[in-house]
Amino acid sequence: MKFDPASRVQDFLVFGEFGDVNPSITDSSTYTFLDPARMEEVFEHEIEGCFLYSRHWNPTNKYLADALARMEDAESAQVMASGMGAISTTLSICSSGDEIVCGRNIYGGTYALLKNLLPRFGVTTKFVDLRDHDAVRAAMTDRTRVIYAESISNPLLEVSDVPALAKIAHDRGAKLVVDGTFSPMILSPLRLGADVVVHSLTKYINGTSDCVAGCVISSKAFIDSLNDVNSGTSMLLGPVLDATRAAGILKNLHSLHIRMRKHSENAAFLAHRLESHGYEVHYPGLESHPHQSLMRRLMNPGYGYGGMMTLDAGDAATANKLMVALQEAKVGYLAVSLGYFKTLFSMPGKSTSSEIPAEERALAGISDGLIRFSIGLDADIEHTWRRIERCLESAGVKPRTRWYAEIE
Ligand code: PLP
Repeated sequence: MKFDPASRVQDFLVFGEFGDVNPSITDSSTYTFLDPARMEEVFEHEIEGCFLYSRHWNPTNKYLADALARMEDAESAQVMASGMGAISTTLSICSSGDEIVCGRNIYGGTYALLKNLLPRFGVTTKFVDLRDHDAVRAAMTDRTRVIYAESISNPLLEVSDVPALAKIAHDRGAKLVVDGTFSPMILSPLRLGADVVVHSLTKYINGTSDCVAGCVISSKAFIDSLNDVNSGTSMLLGPVLDATRAAGILKNLHSLHIRMRKHSENAAFLAHRLESHGYEVHYPGLESHPHQSLMRRLMNPGYGYGGMMTLDAGDAATANKLMVALQEAKVGYLAVSLGYFKTLFSMPGKSTSSEIPAEERALAGISDGLIRFSIGLDADIEHTWRRIERCLESAGVKPRTRWYAEIE
Protein backbone atom coordinates (compact mmCIF):
# COMPACT_ATOMS: atom_id res chain seq x y z
CA MET A 1 0.00 0.00 0.00
CA LYS A 2 1.26 3.49 -0.84
CA PHE A 3 2.62 5.25 2.24
CA ASP A 4 3.01 9.00 2.42
CA PRO A 5 5.25 10.10 5.30
CA ALA A 6 4.49 13.80 4.67
CA SER A 7 0.74 13.34 5.18
CA ARG A 8 1.43 11.44 8.37
CA VAL A 9 3.53 14.33 9.70
CA GLN A 10 0.97 16.89 8.47
CA ASP A 11 -1.76 15.26 10.55
CA PHE A 12 0.29 15.51 13.72
CA LEU A 13 -1.36 18.40 15.59
CA VAL A 14 -0.25 19.73 18.97
CA PHE A 15 -1.01 23.09 20.53
CA GLY A 16 0.54 25.34 23.16
CA GLU A 17 -1.14 25.96 26.50
CA PHE A 18 -3.07 28.99 25.14
CA GLY A 19 -3.97 27.30 21.89
CA ASP A 20 -0.69 28.52 20.36
CA VAL A 21 -0.16 26.93 16.94
CA ASN A 22 3.31 25.87 18.07
CA PRO A 23 3.40 23.80 21.26
CA SER A 24 4.89 25.50 24.32
CA ILE A 25 8.57 24.77 24.93
CA THR A 26 9.31 22.93 28.17
CA ASP A 27 11.62 25.11 30.21
CA SER A 28 12.04 22.71 33.13
CA SER A 29 14.26 19.83 34.06
CA THR A 30 11.85 18.59 36.75
CA TYR A 31 8.08 18.39 37.40
CA THR A 32 5.99 18.74 40.57
CA PHE A 33 3.55 16.18 41.91
CA LEU A 34 0.59 16.73 44.25
CA ASP A 35 0.74 13.18 45.48
CA PRO A 36 3.94 11.26 46.40
CA ALA A 37 2.28 7.97 45.41
CA ARG A 38 1.80 9.29 41.87
CA MET A 39 5.49 10.22 41.70
CA GLU A 40 6.42 6.66 42.65
CA GLU A 41 4.09 5.31 40.00
CA VAL A 42 5.54 7.57 37.27
CA PHE A 43 9.08 6.60 38.31
CA GLU A 44 8.25 2.93 37.84
CA HIS A 45 6.29 3.09 34.57
CA GLU A 46 5.74 5.55 31.79
CA ILE A 47 2.29 7.11 32.16
CA GLU A 48 0.94 9.02 29.17
CA GLY A 49 0.99 12.76 29.85
CA CYS A 50 2.99 12.53 33.11
CA PHE A 51 6.56 13.78 33.29
CA LEU A 52 9.10 13.29 36.06
CA TYR A 53 12.51 14.50 34.93
CA SER A 54 13.61 15.85 31.55
CA ARG A 55 16.46 13.38 30.96
CA HIS A 56 13.79 10.73 30.87
CA TRP A 57 11.16 12.59 28.86
CA ASN A 58 10.06 16.14 28.45
CA PRO A 59 6.90 17.23 26.60
CA THR A 60 8.68 19.09 23.77
CA ASN A 61 10.97 16.15 23.04
CA LYS A 62 7.95 13.85 23.16
CA TYR A 63 6.13 15.94 20.52
CA LEU A 64 9.12 15.73 18.18
CA ALA A 65 9.55 12.01 18.87
CA ASP A 66 5.86 11.35 18.19
CA ALA A 67 5.99 13.27 14.90
CA LEU A 68 9.09 11.32 13.82
CA ALA A 69 7.44 8.03 14.75
CA ARG A 70 4.53 8.99 12.48
CA MET A 71 6.94 9.84 9.66
CA GLU A 72 8.42 6.31 9.86
CA ASP A 73 5.05 4.61 10.50
CA ALA A 74 6.38 3.39 13.85
CA GLU A 75 4.91 2.91 17.30
CA SER A 76 7.46 4.99 19.14
CA ALA A 77 10.60 7.12 19.01
CA GLN A 78 13.11 8.85 21.24
CA VAL A 79 15.05 11.99 20.35
CA MET A 80 18.70 12.39 21.28
CA ALA A 81 21.38 15.06 21.50
CA SER A 82 23.09 13.88 18.28
CA GLY A 83 22.99 11.26 15.56
CA MET A 84 25.96 9.55 17.23
CA GLY A 85 24.02 9.65 20.51
CA ALA A 86 21.18 7.81 18.77
CA ILE A 87 23.52 5.25 17.18
CA SER A 88 25.60 4.58 20.30
CA THR A 89 22.51 4.36 22.53
CA THR A 90 20.94 1.85 20.13
CA LEU A 91 24.06 -0.28 19.73
CA SER A 92 24.56 -0.33 23.49
CA ILE A 93 21.82 -2.96 23.56
CA CYS A 94 24.70 -5.33 22.73
CA SER A 95 26.41 -7.11 25.62
CA SER A 96 29.98 -8.27 25.95
CA GLY A 97 30.55 -11.18 23.55
CA ASP A 98 27.90 -9.97 21.07
CA GLU A 99 28.77 -9.26 17.45
CA ILE A 100 27.60 -6.74 14.87
CA VAL A 101 27.67 -7.20 11.11
CA CYS A 102 28.05 -3.82 9.46
CA GLY A 103 28.37 -2.37 5.98
CA ARG A 104 31.91 -1.59 4.88
CA ASN A 105 30.80 1.70 3.44
CA ILE A 106 29.41 3.77 6.33
CA TYR A 107 29.83 7.13 8.03
CA GLY A 108 33.34 7.42 9.55
CA GLY A 109 32.08 8.22 13.08
CA THR A 110 29.96 5.06 13.12
CA TYR A 111 32.92 3.08 11.81
CA ALA A 112 35.14 4.42 14.62
CA LEU A 113 32.48 3.62 17.24
CA LEU A 114 32.23 0.02 16.03
CA LYS A 115 35.90 -0.53 15.27
CA ASN A 116 37.59 1.29 18.16
CA LEU A 117 35.18 1.93 21.02
CA LEU A 118 32.72 -0.96 21.27
CA PRO A 119 35.49 -3.64 21.37
CA ARG A 120 36.55 -2.06 24.70
CA PHE A 121 33.21 -3.31 26.00
CA GLY A 122 33.54 -6.74 24.36
CA VAL A 123 31.33 -6.00 21.33
CA THR A 124 33.02 -6.74 18.02
CA THR A 125 32.06 -5.94 14.43
CA LYS A 126 32.59 -7.64 11.11
CA PHE A 127 32.60 -5.15 8.23
CA VAL A 128 31.26 -6.65 5.01
CA ASP A 129 30.02 -5.57 1.62
CA LEU A 130 26.27 -5.42 2.29
CA ARG A 131 25.53 -5.84 -1.42
CA ASP A 132 26.95 -9.36 -1.17
CA HIS A 133 24.21 -11.18 0.74
CA ASP A 134 26.18 -14.44 0.84
CA ALA A 135 29.00 -12.56 2.58
CA VAL A 136 26.50 -11.10 5.06
CA ARG A 137 25.08 -14.57 5.79
CA ALA A 138 28.58 -15.98 6.16
CA ALA A 139 29.49 -13.26 8.68
CA MET A 140 26.53 -14.09 10.94
CA THR A 141 27.09 -16.25 14.02
CA ASP A 142 24.96 -17.19 17.01
CA ARG A 143 26.41 -14.11 18.74
CA THR A 144 25.31 -11.67 16.01
CA ARG A 145 22.88 -9.30 17.64
CA VAL A 146 22.64 -6.59 14.97
CA ILE A 147 23.07 -6.05 11.25
CA TYR A 148 23.82 -2.36 10.82
CA ALA A 149 23.27 -0.58 7.49
CA GLU A 150 22.75 2.90 6.12
CA SER A 151 19.67 3.26 3.90
CA ILE A 152 21.85 5.12 1.38
CA SER A 153 25.46 4.84 2.40
CA ASN A 154 27.84 7.63 3.29
CA PRO A 155 29.67 8.57 1.11
CA LEU A 156 29.29 6.15 -1.84
CA LEU A 157 25.49 6.24 -2.05
CA GLU A 158 25.01 2.48 -2.11
CA VAL A 159 21.37 1.60 -1.51
CA SER A 160 20.74 -1.10 1.11
CA ASP A 161 18.36 -3.88 0.20
CA VAL A 162 16.48 -3.53 3.50
CA PRO A 163 13.94 -6.36 2.95
CA ALA A 164 16.72 -8.85 2.10
CA LEU A 165 18.94 -7.73 5.01
CA ALA A 166 15.97 -7.89 7.40
CA LYS A 167 15.34 -11.49 6.36
CA ILE A 168 18.98 -12.43 6.88
CA ALA A 169 18.94 -10.77 10.33
CA HIS A 170 15.63 -12.29 11.43
CA ASP A 171 16.58 -15.80 10.25
CA ARG A 172 19.41 -15.66 12.82
CA GLY A 173 17.44 -13.88 15.57
CA ALA A 174 19.28 -10.58 15.05
CA LYS A 175 17.89 -7.06 14.61
CA LEU A 176 18.34 -4.90 11.53
CA VAL A 177 19.25 -1.32 12.48
CA VAL A 178 19.18 1.20 9.60
CA ASP A 179 20.60 4.71 9.60
CA GLY A 180 18.15 6.69 7.44
CA THR A 181 20.00 10.03 7.58
CA PHE A 182 20.54 10.33 3.79
CA SER A 183 16.97 9.53 2.79
CA PRO A 184 14.27 10.77 5.19
CA MET A 185 10.78 10.40 3.65
CA ILE A 186 12.29 8.80 0.53
CA LEU A 187 12.90 5.44 2.20
CA SER A 188 10.90 4.09 5.16
CA PRO A 189 13.13 1.28 6.51
CA LEU A 190 10.72 0.06 9.21
CA ARG A 191 8.03 -0.52 6.60
CA LEU A 192 10.61 -2.49 4.59
CA GLY A 193 11.38 -4.84 7.49
CA ALA A 194 14.02 -3.07 9.63
CA ASP A 195 13.61 -3.20 13.42
CA VAL A 196 15.13 0.14 14.35
CA VAL A 197 15.77 3.34 12.39
CA VAL A 198 18.22 5.99 13.53
CA HIS A 199 18.61 9.45 12.04
CA SER A 200 21.02 12.29 12.49
CA LEU A 201 18.43 15.09 12.74
CA THR A 202 21.38 17.47 12.28
CA LYS A 203 21.05 16.88 8.53
CA TYR A 204 17.94 16.96 6.30
CA ILE A 205 15.32 16.64 9.01
CA ASN A 206 16.31 19.91 10.67
CA GLY A 207 17.75 21.30 7.46
CA THR A 208 19.20 24.57 8.74
CA SER A 209 22.63 23.42 10.05
CA ASP A 210 22.05 25.26 13.32
CA CYS A 211 22.05 22.34 15.75
CA VAL A 212 23.10 18.75 16.35
CA ALA A 213 20.43 16.14 17.17
CA GLY A 214 19.38 12.55 16.55
CA CYS A 215 16.59 10.05 17.02
CA VAL A 216 15.82 6.35 17.39
CA ILE A 217 12.54 5.07 15.96
CA SER A 218 11.18 1.58 16.60
CA SER A 219 8.54 -0.47 18.43
CA LYS A 220 7.16 0.79 21.73
CA ALA A 221 8.81 -2.14 23.52
CA PHE A 222 12.24 -1.20 22.10
CA ILE A 223 11.97 2.51 22.95
CA ASP A 224 10.62 1.67 26.42
CA SER A 225 13.64 -0.58 26.94
CA LEU A 226 15.98 2.34 26.14
CA ASN A 227 14.17 4.37 28.80
CA ASP A 228 14.09 1.78 31.56
CA VAL A 229 15.25 3.53 34.75
CA ASN A 230 17.36 0.54 35.81
CA SER A 231 18.92 -0.61 32.55
CA GLY A 232 17.87 1.66 29.67
CA THR A 233 20.78 2.96 27.60
CA SER A 234 19.07 6.28 26.87
CA MET A 235 18.12 6.78 30.50
CA LEU A 236 21.56 5.84 31.82
CA LEU A 237 23.92 7.19 29.14
CA GLY A 238 21.82 10.36 29.10
CA PRO A 239 22.06 11.76 25.53
CA VAL A 240 19.05 14.02 26.06
CA LEU A 241 18.14 16.66 23.46
CA ASP A 242 17.52 20.19 24.66
CA ALA A 243 13.81 21.07 24.48
CA THR A 244 14.41 24.39 22.68
CA ARG A 245 16.20 22.55 19.90
CA ALA A 246 13.46 19.93 19.73
CA ALA A 247 10.88 22.69 19.22
CA GLY A 248 12.89 24.15 16.33
CA ILE A 249 13.36 20.78 14.65
CA LEU A 250 9.64 20.00 14.94
CA LYS A 251 8.82 23.21 13.04
CA ASN A 252 11.38 22.38 10.34
CA LEU A 253 10.09 18.79 10.04
CA HIS A 254 6.85 20.20 8.63
CA SER A 255 8.65 21.49 5.52
CA LEU A 256 10.88 18.43 5.07
CA HIS A 257 8.80 16.97 2.23
CA ILE A 258 9.10 20.14 0.14
CA ARG A 259 12.81 20.42 0.84
CA MET A 260 13.47 16.76 -0.03
CA ARG A 261 11.72 17.16 -3.37
CA LYS A 262 13.77 20.25 -4.21
CA HIS A 263 17.08 18.74 -3.02
CA SER A 264 16.32 15.70 -5.19
CA GLU A 265 15.27 17.75 -8.22
CA ASN A 266 18.44 19.88 -8.08
CA ALA A 267 20.76 16.92 -7.44
CA ALA A 268 19.19 14.92 -10.30
CA PHE A 269 19.62 17.90 -12.65
CA LEU A 270 23.30 18.34 -11.80
CA ALA A 271 24.04 14.58 -11.82
CA HIS A 272 22.55 14.25 -15.31
CA ARG A 273 24.45 17.30 -16.56
CA LEU A 274 27.75 16.08 -15.13
CA GLU A 275 27.25 12.62 -16.54
CA SER A 276 26.27 13.89 -19.96
CA HIS A 277 29.51 15.92 -19.99
CA GLY A 278 31.47 12.74 -19.24
CA TYR A 279 32.29 13.32 -15.55
CA GLU A 280 32.57 10.47 -13.04
CA VAL A 281 29.42 11.08 -11.02
CA HIS A 282 27.42 8.82 -8.69
CA TYR A 283 23.77 9.49 -7.98
CA PRO A 284 21.12 6.84 -7.21
CA GLY A 285 18.76 8.45 -9.72
CA LEU A 286 21.11 7.88 -12.67
CA GLU A 287 20.53 4.83 -14.82
CA SER A 288 24.26 4.15 -14.56
CA HIS A 289 23.95 3.77 -10.76
CA PRO A 290 24.02 0.04 -9.95
CA HIS A 291 21.16 0.35 -7.44
CA GLN A 292 18.75 2.55 -9.35
CA SER A 293 16.22 -0.24 -9.90
CA LEU A 294 16.52 -1.43 -6.27
CA MET A 295 15.93 2.13 -5.13
CA ARG A 296 12.89 2.45 -7.40
CA ARG A 297 11.46 -0.73 -5.87
CA LEU A 298 11.95 0.48 -2.28
CA MET A 299 11.32 4.22 -2.38
CA ASN A 300 8.17 6.14 -1.48
CA PRO A 301 6.96 7.93 -4.63
CA GLY A 302 7.20 11.68 -4.94
CA TYR A 303 10.44 12.59 -3.14
CA GLY A 304 13.03 11.77 -5.78
CA TYR A 305 16.38 10.06 -5.23
CA GLY A 306 17.77 12.46 -2.64
CA GLY A 307 20.15 15.39 -2.56
CA MET A 308 23.47 13.56 -2.22
CA MET A 309 25.84 13.11 -5.13
CA THR A 310 29.54 12.30 -5.54
CA LEU A 311 32.00 13.41 -8.19
CA ASP A 312 35.42 11.89 -8.69
CA ALA A 313 37.86 14.66 -9.59
CA GLY A 314 40.63 12.13 -10.28
CA ASP A 315 43.05 13.03 -7.47
CA ALA A 316 43.10 14.93 -4.19
CA ALA A 317 44.91 18.03 -5.51
CA THR A 318 42.39 18.53 -8.33
CA ALA A 319 39.50 17.90 -5.94
CA ASN A 320 40.87 20.59 -3.60
CA LYS A 321 41.24 23.06 -6.46
CA LEU A 322 37.69 22.38 -7.55
CA MET A 323 36.23 22.83 -4.07
CA VAL A 324 38.01 26.15 -3.57
CA ALA A 325 36.80 27.33 -6.99
CA LEU A 326 33.23 26.25 -6.21
CA GLN A 327 33.26 28.14 -2.92
CA GLU A 328 34.67 31.26 -4.58
CA ALA A 329 32.00 31.02 -7.30
CA LYS A 330 29.30 30.89 -4.58
CA VAL A 331 28.12 27.42 -5.57
CA GLY A 332 28.21 26.48 -1.90
CA TYR A 333 30.46 25.91 1.10
CA LEU A 334 33.50 23.73 1.60
CA ALA A 335 32.07 22.13 4.73
CA VAL A 336 31.20 18.71 6.11
CA SER A 337 27.61 17.74 6.90
CA LEU A 338 24.58 17.65 4.63
CA GLY A 339 20.95 18.56 4.24
CA TYR A 340 21.54 22.32 4.46
CA PHE A 341 19.67 24.73 2.17
CA LYS A 342 23.01 25.70 0.59
CA THR A 343 25.17 23.20 -1.25
CA LEU A 344 27.93 21.69 0.91
CA PHE A 345 30.92 19.74 -0.37
CA SER A 346 33.91 17.99 1.15
CA MET A 347 36.35 15.21 0.40
CA PRO A 348 35.29 12.15 2.46
CA GLY A 349 38.81 10.66 2.38
CA LYS A 350 40.10 13.75 4.22
CA SER A 351 37.09 14.38 6.45
CA THR A 352 33.97 12.34 7.22
CA SER A 353 35.49 8.99 6.21
CA SER A 354 39.05 9.68 7.39
CA GLU A 355 38.48 7.46 10.45
CA ILE A 356 38.44 4.51 8.01
CA PRO A 357 42.02 3.37 7.27
CA ALA A 358 43.26 4.08 3.73
CA GLU A 359 43.31 0.37 2.68
CA GLU A 360 39.71 -0.12 3.82
CA ARG A 361 38.64 3.11 2.11
CA ALA A 362 40.20 1.81 -1.08
CA LEU A 363 38.41 -1.55 -0.69
CA ALA A 364 35.10 0.26 -0.20
CA GLY A 365 35.79 2.40 -3.28
CA ILE A 366 36.36 5.77 -1.55
CA SER A 367 39.02 7.23 -3.83
CA ASP A 368 41.29 10.18 -2.99
CA GLY A 369 39.68 12.53 -5.50
CA LEU A 370 36.11 11.79 -4.42
CA ILE A 371 34.02 14.84 -3.51
CA ARG A 372 30.71 14.40 -1.73
CA PHE A 373 28.05 16.98 -2.48
CA SER A 374 24.91 17.78 -0.55
CA ILE A 375 23.01 19.74 -3.16
CA GLY A 376 21.13 22.77 -1.88
CA LEU A 377 17.76 24.32 -2.60
CA ASP A 378 19.00 26.68 -5.37
CA ALA A 379 16.15 28.46 -7.12
CA ASP A 380 17.88 28.49 -10.52
CA ILE A 381 19.87 25.28 -10.86
CA GLU A 382 20.69 25.97 -14.53
CA HIS A 383 22.55 29.09 -13.36
CA THR A 384 24.36 26.97 -10.71
CA TRP A 385 25.36 24.50 -13.41
CA ARG A 386 26.95 27.26 -15.49
CA ARG A 387 29.04 28.24 -12.46
CA ILE A 388 30.01 24.61 -11.81
CA GLU A 389 31.02 24.14 -15.44
CA ARG A 390 33.40 27.11 -15.24
CA CYS A 391 34.89 25.74 -11.98
CA LEU A 392 35.44 22.27 -13.48
CA GLU A 393 37.26 23.89 -16.36
CA SER A 394 39.42 26.17 -14.18
CA ALA A 395 40.33 23.38 -11.72
CA GLY A 396 41.30 21.10 -14.62
CA VAL A 397 38.88 18.26 -13.76
CA LYS A 398 38.99 15.83 -16.65
CA PRO A 399 35.82 14.14 -17.85
CA ARG A 400 35.99 10.34 -17.53
CA THR A 401 35.90 10.04 -21.29
CA ARG A 402 39.20 11.94 -21.40
CA TRP A 403 40.81 9.64 -18.79
CA TYR A 404 39.98 6.67 -20.98
CA ALA A 405 41.32 8.44 -24.04
CA GLU A 406 44.58 9.13 -22.19
CA ILE A 407 44.95 5.49 -21.07
CA GLU A 408 44.46 4.25 -24.63
N1 PLP B 1 24.86 9.02 10.33
C1 PLP B 1 25.30 9.55 9.17
C2 PLP B 1 24.96 8.85 7.88
C3 PLP B 1 26.04 10.72 9.17
O1 PLP B 1 26.47 11.23 8.01
C4 PLP B 1 26.36 11.33 10.42
C5 PLP B 1 27.15 12.58 10.49
O2 PLP B 1 27.69 13.05 9.53
C6 PLP B 1 25.88 10.75 11.60
C7 PLP B 1 25.14 9.59 11.51
C8 PLP B 1 26.19 11.34 12.94
O3 PLP B 1 25.30 12.36 13.23
P1 PLP B 1 25.61 13.58 14.24
O4 PLP B 1 26.69 14.39 13.64
O5 PLP B 1 24.29 14.27 14.36
O6 PLP B 1 26.04 12.95 15.54
